[in-house]
Amino acid sequence: MSARILIIEDDAASHALVRYLLEAAGYQTLSAFDGAVGVRMALDRQPDLLLCDLQMPVMSGYQVIQTLQEYALWKKVPVIAVTAFSMAGDREKTLAAGFDEHISKPISPQHFVAQVEAFLPESLRGGAAVHPA
Ligand code: MN
Repeated sequence: MSARILIIEDDAASHALVRYLLEAAGYQTLSAFDGAVGVRMALDRQPDLLLCDLQMPVMSGYQVIQTLQEYALWKKVPVIAVTAFSMAGDREKTLAAGFDEHISKPISPQHFVAQVEAFLPESLRGGAAVHPA
């Protein structure tokens, strides 16, 4: 069964592109357009992986990861920052905040799914559902 991936991203075009690429690769997606809704969905729906923008209204990506870590309910899964913050030091700052990876925007449509899949166990990868062994 392919992973269920929660996308937390306020920019409609970025959100749509990420969702399209993941669904085309066989993934189920959940969508949140601000950090507060994202936290609630992460706790309620138990996705297998989170993609999270950093600059968002209501609650930033940094606040999202900090809040999740405070919840006993939070089932630790990979959380990847997808962000336009790509200056020197931004990656280190993101990883230090608790994110598992930092992907810079604009994303590469050719490589994005593989970058995300690297954080999923083989049994949850999209291709596994399309071509069962
Ligand atoms: Mn944003």
